[in-house]
Amino acid sequence: TKAPVTVTVTGAAGQIGYALLFRIASGQLIDAETPIKLRLLEIPQAVKAAEGTAMELDDCAFPLLESIDITDDARTAFDGTNVALLVGARPRAKGMERGDLLEANGGIFKPQGEAINAGAADDVRVLVVGNPANTNALIAQAHAPDVPAERFTAMTRLDHNRAQTQLAQKLGVSVTDIRKLTIWGNHSATQYPDLFHAEVGGKIAAEQVEQSWLADEFIPTVAKRGAAIIDARGASSAASAANAAIDHVHTWVNGTPEGDWTSAGVVSDGSYGVPEGLISSFPVTARDGKFEIVQGLEIDEFSRERIDASVAELTEERDTVRKLGLI
Ligand code: NDP
Repeated sequence: TKAPVTVTVTGAAGQIGYALLFRIASGQLIDAETPIKLRLLEIPQAVKAAEGTAMELDDCAFPLLESIDITDDARTAFDGTNVALLVGARPRAKGMERGDLLEANGGIFKPQGEAINAGAADDVRVLVVGNPANTNALIAQAHAPDVPAERFTAMTRLDHNRAQTQLAQKLGVSVTDIRKLTIWGNHSATQYPDLFHAEVGGKIAAEQVEQSWLADEFIPTVAKRGAAIIDARGASSAASAANAAIDHVHTWVNGTPEGDWTSAGVVSDGSYGVPEGLISSFPVTARDGKFEIVQGLEIDEFSRERIDASVAELTEERDTVRKLGLI
Protein backbone atom coordinates (compact mmCIF):
# COMPACT_ATOMS: atom_id res chain seq x y z
CA THR A 1 0.00 0.00 0.00
CA LYS A 2 1.02 3.60 -0.52
CA ALA A 3 1.95 6.16 2.14
CA PRO A 4 -1.04 8.10 3.48
CA VAL A 5 -1.72 11.62 2.28
CA THR A 6 -2.94 14.28 4.69
CA VAL A 7 -5.68 16.44 3.19
CA THR A 8 -6.87 19.61 4.91
CA VAL A 9 -10.26 21.04 3.97
CA THR A 10 -11.28 24.47 5.25
CA GLY A 11 -14.94 25.42 5.45
CA ALA A 12 -15.53 21.71 5.85
CA ALA A 13 -19.05 22.14 7.19
CA GLY A 14 -20.21 24.18 4.19
CA GLN A 15 -22.07 23.10 1.06
CA ILE A 16 -18.98 22.41 -1.02
CA GLY A 17 -17.32 20.66 1.91
CA TYR A 18 -20.30 18.32 2.17
CA ALA A 19 -20.02 17.39 -1.50
CA LEU A 20 -16.23 17.15 -1.38
CA LEU A 21 -15.27 15.17 1.72
CA PHE A 22 -16.96 11.90 0.74
CA ARG A 23 -15.23 11.87 -2.60
CA ILE A 24 -11.83 12.54 -1.06
CA ALA A 25 -12.39 9.78 1.49
CA SER A 26 -13.51 7.33 -1.19
CA GLY A 27 -10.22 7.64 -3.08
CA GLN A 28 -11.08 9.98 -5.93
CA LEU A 29 -8.66 12.80 -5.07
CA ILE A 30 -5.33 11.03 -5.52
CA ASP A 31 -5.98 7.42 -6.54
CA ALA A 32 -7.72 4.32 -5.28
CA GLU A 33 -4.69 3.06 -3.32
CA THR A 34 -3.60 6.04 -1.25
CA PRO A 35 -4.89 6.18 2.35
CA ILE A 36 -6.26 9.55 3.40
CA LYS A 37 -5.94 11.42 6.66
CA LEU A 38 -8.54 14.17 6.77
CA ARG A 39 -8.16 17.43 8.65
CA LEU A 40 -11.21 19.62 8.81
CA LEU A 41 -10.85 23.30 9.63
CA GLU A 42 -13.89 25.33 10.59
CA ILE A 43 -14.72 28.50 12.46
CA PRO A 44 -15.69 27.73 16.09
CA GLN A 45 -19.44 28.02 15.53
CA ALA A 46 -19.33 25.47 12.68
CA VAL A 47 -17.13 22.86 14.38
CA LYS A 48 -20.17 20.97 15.65
CA ALA A 49 -21.59 20.72 12.13
CA ALA A 50 -18.22 19.47 10.88
CA GLU A 51 -18.35 16.81 13.60
CA GLY A 52 -21.71 15.74 12.19
CA THR A 53 -20.21 15.34 8.73
CA ALA A 54 -17.36 13.36 10.27
CA MET A 55 -19.94 11.01 11.82
CA GLU A 56 -21.31 10.37 8.36
CA LEU A 57 -17.83 9.81 6.99
CA ASP A 58 -17.32 7.22 9.73
CA ASP A 59 -20.57 5.60 8.73
CA CYS A 60 -19.36 5.09 5.18
CA ALA A 61 -16.59 2.77 6.43
CA PHE A 62 -14.34 4.00 3.63
CA PRO A 63 -11.40 1.55 3.41
CA LEU A 64 -8.92 4.34 2.58
CA LEU A 65 -9.94 6.78 5.31
CA GLU A 66 -7.38 6.50 8.10
CA SER A 67 -8.38 9.37 10.34
CA ILE A 68 -10.44 12.54 10.69
CA ASP A 69 -9.33 15.46 12.85
CA ILE A 70 -11.50 18.52 13.35
CA THR A 71 -10.18 21.84 14.57
CA ASP A 72 -10.74 25.59 14.57
CA ASP A 73 -7.00 26.25 14.73
CA ALA A 74 -5.19 26.82 11.42
CA ARG A 75 -1.77 25.71 12.75
CA THR A 76 -3.21 22.37 13.83
CA ALA A 77 -5.15 21.98 10.59
CA PHE A 78 -2.16 22.50 8.28
CA ASP A 79 0.51 20.76 10.33
CA GLY A 80 2.11 18.19 8.02
CA THR A 81 -0.55 18.61 5.35
CA ASN A 82 0.13 17.45 1.79
CA VAL A 83 -2.98 18.81 0.10
CA ALA A 84 -4.77 21.93 1.34
CA LEU A 85 -8.19 22.69 -0.10
CA LEU A 86 -9.10 26.21 0.95
CA VAL A 87 -12.86 26.25 0.53
CA GLY A 88 -14.07 28.39 3.43
CA ALA A 89 -14.26 32.08 2.58
CA ARG A 90 -16.21 35.14 3.49
CA PRO A 91 -19.30 35.33 1.28
CA ARG A 92 -20.19 38.62 -0.35
CA ALA A 93 -22.90 40.25 1.73
CA LYS A 94 -25.44 42.71 0.34
CA GLY A 95 -23.97 46.18 -0.10
CA MET A 96 -20.41 44.95 0.40
CA GLU A 97 -17.81 46.68 -1.76
CA ARG A 98 -15.13 44.63 -3.48
CA GLY A 99 -12.53 46.14 -1.15
CA ASP A 100 -14.52 45.07 1.94
CA LEU A 101 -14.76 41.55 0.57
CA LEU A 102 -11.04 41.39 -0.12
CA GLU A 103 -10.28 42.74 3.33
CA ALA A 104 -12.55 40.21 5.05
CA ASN A 105 -10.92 37.41 3.10
CA GLY A 106 -7.48 38.74 3.90
CA GLY A 107 -8.31 38.02 7.52
CA ILE A 108 -8.85 34.37 6.58
CA PHE A 109 -6.20 33.69 3.94
CA LYS A 110 -3.28 35.54 5.57
CA PRO A 111 -3.23 33.38 8.72
CA GLN A 112 -3.84 30.28 6.62
CA GLY A 113 -0.83 31.11 4.43
CA GLU A 114 1.25 31.62 7.56
CA ALA A 115 0.10 28.31 9.00
CA ILE A 116 0.91 26.50 5.75
CA ASN A 117 4.33 28.14 5.75
CA ALA A 118 4.95 27.12 9.34
CA GLY A 119 3.88 23.52 9.28
CA ALA A 120 2.78 22.01 5.98
CA ALA A 121 4.66 19.10 4.42
CA ASP A 122 7.47 19.92 1.97
CA ASP A 123 5.39 18.72 -0.95
CA VAL A 124 2.26 20.71 0.02
CA ARG A 125 -0.14 21.59 -2.78
CA VAL A 126 -2.72 24.30 -2.18
CA LEU A 127 -5.96 24.80 -4.09
CA VAL A 128 -8.08 27.85 -3.30
CA VAL A 129 -11.80 27.43 -4.04
CA GLY A 130 -13.23 30.16 -1.80
CA ASN A 131 -13.91 33.38 -3.69
CA PRO A 132 -12.42 35.67 -4.86
CA ALA A 133 -10.26 32.58 -5.39
CA ASN A 134 -7.37 34.01 -7.42
CA THR A 135 -6.70 36.87 -5.06
CA ASN A 136 -7.31 34.78 -1.95
CA ALA A 137 -4.64 32.42 -3.30
CA LEU A 138 -2.32 35.38 -3.86
CA ILE A 139 -2.79 36.50 -0.25
CA ALA A 140 -2.08 33.03 1.15
CA GLN A 141 0.95 32.63 -1.12
CA ALA A 142 2.39 35.99 -0.06
CA HIS A 143 2.42 34.78 3.54
CA ALA A 144 4.15 31.50 2.78
CA PRO A 145 7.60 32.66 1.61
CA ASP A 146 9.20 29.27 2.31
CA VAL A 147 6.78 27.37 0.09
CA PRO A 148 7.49 27.49 -3.66
CA ALA A 149 4.99 29.99 -5.11
CA GLU A 150 3.80 27.52 -7.75
CA ARG A 151 2.26 25.34 -5.04
CA PHE A 152 -0.52 27.92 -4.63
CA THR A 153 -3.27 27.58 -7.19
CA ALA A 154 -6.82 28.82 -7.71
CA MET A 155 -9.68 26.84 -9.17
CA THR A 156 -10.91 27.52 -12.70
CA ARG A 157 -11.51 23.86 -13.45
CA LEU A 158 -15.25 24.27 -12.91
CA ASP A 159 -15.30 26.95 -15.62
CA HIS A 160 -13.22 24.63 -17.81
CA ASN A 161 -15.61 21.72 -17.27
CA ARG A 162 -18.61 23.94 -17.92
CA ALA A 163 -17.09 25.16 -21.20
CA GLN A 164 -16.33 21.60 -22.22
CA THR A 165 -19.94 20.47 -21.85
CA GLN A 166 -21.38 23.59 -23.53
CA LEU A 167 -19.18 22.97 -26.56
CA ALA A 168 -19.85 19.22 -26.62
CA GLN A 169 -23.61 19.79 -26.53
CA LYS A 170 -23.42 22.45 -29.23
CA LEU A 171 -21.52 20.14 -31.60
CA GLY A 172 -23.28 16.93 -30.59
CA VAL A 173 -20.03 15.26 -29.57
CA SER A 174 -18.81 13.67 -26.36
CA VAL A 175 -16.84 15.72 -23.85
CA THR A 176 -14.01 13.25 -24.44
CA ASP A 177 -13.74 14.47 -28.05
CA ILE A 178 -12.65 17.92 -26.87
CA ARG A 179 -9.02 18.85 -26.29
CA LYS A 180 -7.04 21.95 -25.38
CA LEU A 181 -9.80 24.11 -24.01
CA THR A 182 -8.57 27.06 -21.97
CA ILE A 183 -10.02 29.36 -19.33
CA TRP A 184 -7.93 32.52 -19.11
CA GLY A 185 -7.78 35.10 -16.33
CA ASN A 186 -9.86 35.51 -13.21
CA HIS A 187 -12.47 33.11 -11.81
CA SER A 188 -15.12 35.79 -12.20
CA ALA A 189 -17.51 37.10 -14.81
CA THR A 190 -14.52 38.44 -16.78
CA GLN A 191 -12.99 35.00 -17.32
CA TYR A 192 -12.35 34.10 -20.95
CA PRO A 193 -13.13 30.59 -22.22
CA ASP A 194 -11.01 30.18 -25.38
CA LEU A 195 -12.14 28.04 -28.32
CA PHE A 196 -9.45 29.29 -30.70
CA HIS A 197 -6.97 26.68 -29.48
CA ALA A 198 -9.51 24.06 -28.48
CA GLU A 199 -9.80 21.06 -30.79
CA VAL A 200 -12.70 18.82 -31.63
CA GLY A 201 -11.82 15.82 -33.73
CA GLY A 202 -8.42 17.40 -34.33
CA LYS A 203 -9.90 20.61 -35.81
CA ILE A 204 -10.10 24.03 -34.18
CA ALA A 205 -13.35 24.36 -32.23
CA ALA A 206 -13.89 28.06 -33.03
CA GLU A 207 -14.08 27.16 -36.73
CA GLN A 208 -16.87 24.67 -36.10
CA VAL A 209 -19.29 27.10 -34.42
CA GLU A 210 -20.81 30.40 -35.51
CA GLN A 211 -18.91 33.45 -34.28
CA SER A 212 -22.20 34.83 -32.89
CA TRP A 213 -22.74 31.68 -30.79
CA LEU A 214 -19.20 31.88 -29.49
CA ALA A 215 -19.36 35.55 -28.54
CA ASP A 216 -23.01 35.99 -27.52
CA GLU A 217 -23.96 32.59 -26.09
CA PHE A 218 -21.01 30.43 -25.21
CA ILE A 219 -18.86 32.96 -23.35
CA PRO A 220 -21.68 34.48 -21.26
CA THR A 221 -23.25 31.08 -20.56
CA VAL A 222 -19.98 29.75 -19.13
CA ALA A 223 -19.26 32.95 -17.20
CA LYS A 224 -22.77 33.21 -15.70
CA ARG A 225 -23.43 29.53 -15.11
CA GLY A 226 -23.11 29.84 -11.34
CA ALA A 227 -25.90 32.43 -11.20
CA ALA A 228 -28.09 30.34 -13.53
CA ILE A 229 -27.76 27.36 -11.18
CA ILE A 230 -28.62 29.43 -8.11
CA ASP A 231 -31.65 30.68 -10.01
CA ALA A 232 -32.76 27.16 -10.94
CA ARG A 233 -32.06 25.15 -7.82
CA GLY A 234 -32.26 27.88 -5.22
CA ALA A 235 -28.81 26.92 -3.99
CA SER A 236 -25.31 27.30 -5.33
CA SER A 237 -23.38 24.91 -7.52
CA ALA A 238 -21.70 23.09 -4.66
CA ALA A 239 -21.50 19.57 -6.10
CA SER A 240 -19.98 20.62 -9.41
CA ALA A 241 -17.56 22.92 -7.58
CA ALA A 242 -16.50 19.99 -5.40
CA ASN A 243 -16.14 17.81 -8.50
CA ALA A 244 -13.88 20.41 -10.10
CA ALA A 245 -11.72 20.59 -6.97
CA ILE A 246 -11.29 16.80 -7.16
CA ASP A 247 -10.42 17.08 -10.87
CA HIS A 248 -7.90 19.87 -10.26
CA VAL A 249 -5.91 17.99 -7.63
CA HIS A 250 -6.22 14.63 -9.41
CA THR A 251 -4.80 16.16 -12.59
CA TRP A 252 -2.06 18.01 -10.67
CA VAL A 253 -0.88 14.77 -9.08
CA ASN A 254 -1.52 12.31 -11.91
CA GLY A 255 -0.87 14.47 -14.99
CA THR A 256 -2.64 15.60 -18.16
CA PRO A 257 -2.95 13.19 -21.09
CA GLU A 258 -0.49 13.53 -23.98
CA GLY A 259 -1.82 16.06 -26.51
CA ASP A 260 -4.13 17.78 -24.09
CA TRP A 261 -4.07 20.37 -21.32
CA THR A 262 -6.37 21.78 -18.66
CA SER A 263 -7.02 25.15 -17.01
CA ALA A 264 -5.83 26.28 -13.60
CA GLY A 265 -5.10 29.51 -11.79
CA VAL A 266 -1.33 29.45 -11.33
CA VAL A 267 1.36 32.00 -10.58
CA SER A 268 2.21 33.88 -13.75
CA ASP A 269 5.79 33.78 -15.02
CA GLY A 270 4.95 36.72 -17.29
CA SER A 271 3.66 34.51 -20.12
CA TYR A 272 1.08 35.98 -22.50
CA GLY A 273 1.54 39.45 -21.05
CA VAL A 274 0.12 38.46 -17.64
CA PRO A 275 2.14 40.35 -15.01
CA GLU A 276 4.53 38.09 -13.18
CA GLY A 277 3.29 36.96 -9.79
CA LEU A 278 -0.45 37.27 -10.46
CA ILE A 279 -2.43 34.08 -9.95
CA SER A 280 -4.26 33.85 -13.24
CA SER A 281 -5.84 31.02 -15.18
CA PHE A 282 -3.76 29.62 -18.04
CA PRO A 283 -3.64 26.55 -20.22
CA VAL A 284 -1.52 24.17 -18.18
CA THR A 285 -0.11 20.70 -18.52
CA ALA A 286 0.69 18.61 -15.47
CA ARG A 287 3.71 16.30 -15.47
CA ASP A 288 5.70 14.77 -12.62
CA GLY A 289 3.36 16.44 -10.16
CA LYS A 290 3.90 19.95 -11.52
CA PHE A 291 1.74 22.33 -13.50
CA GLU A 292 3.41 24.07 -16.42
CA ILE A 293 1.99 26.93 -18.45
CA VAL A 294 1.61 25.94 -22.11
CA GLN A 295 3.92 28.23 -24.06
CA GLY A 296 3.91 29.76 -27.51
CA LEU A 297 0.20 29.92 -28.35
CA GLU A 298 -0.77 32.63 -30.80
CA ILE A 299 -3.34 34.98 -29.36
CA ASP A 300 -5.56 36.79 -31.86
CA GLU A 301 -7.16 40.18 -31.28
CA PHE A 302 -10.51 38.80 -30.08
CA SER A 303 -8.84 36.71 -27.41
CA ARG A 304 -6.25 39.37 -26.53
CA GLU A 305 -8.91 41.90 -25.62
CA ARG A 306 -10.71 39.46 -23.34
CA ILE A 307 -7.61 38.10 -21.65
CA ASP A 308 -6.41 41.66 -21.02
CA ALA A 309 -9.75 42.66 -19.47
CA SER A 310 -9.73 39.76 -17.03
CA VAL A 311 -6.06 40.27 -16.17
CA ALA A 312 -6.77 43.99 -15.57
CA GLU A 313 -9.36 42.94 -12.99
CA LEU A 314 -6.80 40.67 -11.29
CA THR A 315 -4.27 43.49 -11.27
CA GLU A 316 -6.83 45.76 -9.64
CA GLU A 317 -7.59 43.15 -6.98
CA ARG A 318 -3.88 42.78 -6.30
CA ASP A 319 -3.46 46.56 -6.02
CA THR A 320 -6.38 46.70 -3.58
CA VAL A 321 -4.97 44.01 -1.29
CA ARG A 322 -1.57 45.72 -1.48
CA LYS A 323 -3.11 49.00 -0.38
CA LEU A 324 -4.84 47.18 2.46
CA GLY A 325 -1.46 45.81 3.53
CA LEU A 326 -2.64 42.24 2.98
CA ILE A 327 0.30 41.28 0.77
P1 NDP B 1 -19.88 26.98 0.04
O1 NDP B 1 -19.28 25.75 0.59
O2 NDP B 1 -21.04 26.86 -0.87
O3 NDP B 1 -18.77 27.86 -0.71
C1 NDP B 1 -17.52 28.11 -0.14
C2 NDP B 1 -16.74 29.04 -1.01
O4 NDP B 1 -16.55 28.48 -2.29
C3 NDP B 1 -17.37 30.39 -1.26
O5 NDP B 1 -16.38 31.38 -1.15
C4 NDP B 1 -17.87 30.31 -2.67
O6 NDP B 1 -17.83 31.55 -3.31
C5 NDP B 1 -16.80 29.44 -3.28
N1 NDP B 1 -17.13 28.85 -4.57
C6 NDP B 1 -16.28 28.64 -5.59
N2 NDP B 1 -16.87 28.09 -6.63
C7 NDP B 1 -18.15 27.93 -6.30
C8 NDP B 1 -19.27 27.42 -6.98
N3 NDP B 1 -19.22 26.96 -8.20
N4 NDP B 1 -20.44 27.37 -6.34
C9 NDP B 1 -20.54 27.81 -5.10
N5 NDP B 1 -19.51 28.33 -4.41
C10 NDP B 1 -18.34 28.40 -5.00
O7 NDP B 1 -20.26 27.98 1.22
P2 NDP B 1 -20.97 27.70 2.61
O8 NDP B 1 -21.38 29.04 3.09
O9 NDP B 1 -21.94 26.60 2.52
O10 NDP B 1 -19.80 27.16 3.51
C11 NDP B 1 -18.68 27.89 3.84
C12 NDP B 1 -18.12 27.31 5.08
O11 NDP B 1 -16.85 27.89 5.30
C13 NDP B 1 -18.96 27.59 6.33
O12 NDP B 1 -19.16 26.37 7.02
C14 NDP B 1 -18.08 28.55 7.15
O13 NDP B 1 -18.20 28.33 8.54
C15 NDP B 1 -16.73 28.13 6.66
N6 NDP B 1 -15.62 29.08 6.82
C16 NDP B 1 -14.48 28.54 7.34
C17 NDP B 1 -13.37 29.30 7.53
C18 NDP B 1 -12.18 28.64 8.08
O14 NDP B 1 -12.06 27.42 8.03
N7 NDP B 1 -11.25 29.38 8.64
C19 NDP B 1 -13.36 30.73 7.18
C20 NDP B 1 -14.58 31.18 6.60
C21 NDP B 1 -15.66 30.38 6.42
P3 NDP B 1 -19.16 32.44 -3.54
O15 NDP B 1 -19.91 32.42 -2.24
O16 NDP B 1 -18.63 33.79 -3.89
O17 NDP B 1 -19.87 31.77 -4.65
